[in-house]
Formats: sequence, structure tokens, C-alpha cells
Amino acid sequence: MEALRGTPAEVLRRYPSPTSAEFRRIAGEVHGVDPDSVVATNGGDELLRLAITTFVEPGHPIGVASPSYSLYPVLAGIHGSPVVSSPLDEDWRPSADFAKQMNREGVALTFLVNPHAPSGTLLSATEIADIAGALNGVLLVDEAYVDFVDPDLEHDVVPLVREQDNILILRTLSKGYSLAGLRFGYGIANPSLIEPIATKTRDSYSVDAIAERLAAAALKHRDAAAETWSTVRGERGRLAKALERLGLPCVASQSNFLLAAVPDAFAGGAEMVYRRLKEQGILVRFFPQEGLRHRLRITVGTAEQNDRLTAALRSMAPA
Ligand SMILES: *Cc1c(COP(=O)(O)O)cnc(C)c1O
Repeated sequence: MEALRGTPAEVLRRYPSPTSAEFRRIAGEVHGVDPDSVVATNGGDELLRLAITTFVEPGHPIGVASPSYSLYPVLAGIHGSPVVSSPLDEDWRPSADFAKQMNREGVALTFLVNPHAPSGTLLSATEIADIAGALNGVLLVDEAYVDFVDPDLEHDVVPLVREQDNILILRTLSKGYSLAGLRFGYGIANPSLIEPIATKTRDSYSVDAIAERLAAAALKHRDAAAETWSTVRGERGRLAKALERLGLPCVASQSNFLLAAVPDAFAGGAEMVYRRLKEQGILVRFFPQEGLRHRLRITVGTAEQNDRLTAALRSMAPA
């Protein structure tokens, strides 16, 4: 808010930096890469669209592991591209022949969300490197939720982009920095992969002057955001235990949500529980699709919100 209040009117009178130069300099410092390895976008969602426009001929296939982020097939549809969908295994991990399958179908761009949504499962940097190494096309690693990963895991995919020129990492300020309204995301990749996005397909002014300033300030002060990440991790563990005690076991999550299994014996199953919580003003996600219809994705809230949710569920639990 200080950066917002401190923005002089003069900044708005002029066009912003077409390359978001100041933000890229700071992001480069934070991630230990050259600014040429960074591209700033209007939310992470713009990067997804740009990756498609840049690397996929219209009508050619796009790869996803399913289930995952619902926007991928929507963007593929806009591009006239069929979706090659590879089902995750029972541990929410890509199958052993994931890359082979994509190559066989002539996929030039594959999306992988890590930590996975909606399960919260994390693939290690080594697993990402292996998949990218086996792919003929580009691997977009969607790290929308990576800020919530336990720091003890020392998880960092960024160093891979030096050696592997087909890995494009997506970051966003919407989740980890509580700035969804700002619309700011960025990509990290080998400069050879960033260059065609930054110079050919991206609009010169898709990121406005205020967003760039605030995003730079947020990254500079990420220690403040890191306190929130730590609180979320603590609550994530506490909520998972509470849900487990109620008979709603959760997938081990490295994200800011939990995927809880809801047996039909529990108040009539996931959809019923979703509806009854909604009546009480508690919003969780129910996905009426294969593999997910017996589960609920629950965002980790504040301690108070989590307690309210737990109490509401307890009142529905079978005797
Ligand atoms: C939130 C999210 C994004 C990007 O969101 P933006 O608000 O556009 O930055 C990308 N991928 C996944 C899986 C997300 O959940």
C-alpha cells in the first residue's frame, strides 16, 4: 500500500516500460537469473495464453495431465487446438510414459501444474527435469501455488532453465502475495524461450505502470509474504488433522488447499456436503468429474475460518 500511495501522478501520464524492465531486474535478483530470463504478464493467465500463441500452431494439439487447471482446455479451445489429456495415477502423478504420449501426439506445448491443483501434490525438480528432458516440445510448469511449499524441501525448479531450454515456469502474485486484483504474473525460462514471447506475441503494454511498481515492491518485500506462507502451512497441517479425525482424509498437500475424500456415508457425500456448507456461507470446491466427485477441495483459511468449517462438518458427521 505504501508503494501504491507513493506512486506519483507523473508515472500515469507516461506509457509504462514496454518490457517491465524494473520488475524484471528485481525478479532476476530474487530468482538468481538474468532479467532476459523473465517476462512480465497481465496475470499468470496471460502467460498461459501467450505460451499457446507463441509455441503452438493454431489447431495443433496441446498436452495436459488431467485433472488440472480448468483454464487450459478453455484456452486450447480458443486456439482451435485439441487437448491431449493424460490421466494422473492414483497418487496424482503423471504416468511413466507421459512425455512419450505427448511426443507421439505431436504436442508442442504441455501444461503441468506443480504443486498440482486440485490435489496439492508436489513433483520434485528432478522429476520435472526428467519429463522436460523426454519431451520434444515446451513444458510449461505452472507454479501458481509454489510459494506454499515447505521450505525444508528446498524445492526450486528455476535453476533448470539454464540447462533445459524447453522449461517455461509460470509465477503469479495472485496467490502467494494476496494480489489477485493486481493482475500480475511472470514467466521464467531460458532467454531463448522468453525472447519470442517478449518480442513477438506479448502486447507492449499489457502490464501497466502501477502493477509493475507494486509487483516489484511485493517481490522486494517477500519476507512479509513469507510470514503468511508459513501461517498457511501451519493451518494446513492443523486443518488436515481435524478433517482426518472427522473421517475426511486429505492428500498430502504442498499448496494452500486440501483435497479431502468424502465418503458417501458422510452426510450423503461430497456434493451434499458442498451444498450444506454453502447454505452456511462456507465455500469449498466440488468438481463433478471423474476421480473428483467423491472429494472436496478446501482452501486453507484463517484459523477462525478453519475452526468454523471444522465445526460445521462436525455437526454433519455420522454418529
Ligand atoms: C491462479 C492460477 C493461475 C494464474 O492466475 P492469475 O491470477 O492469472 O495470475 C495459473 N494457474 C493456476 C493453476 C492457478 O490456480
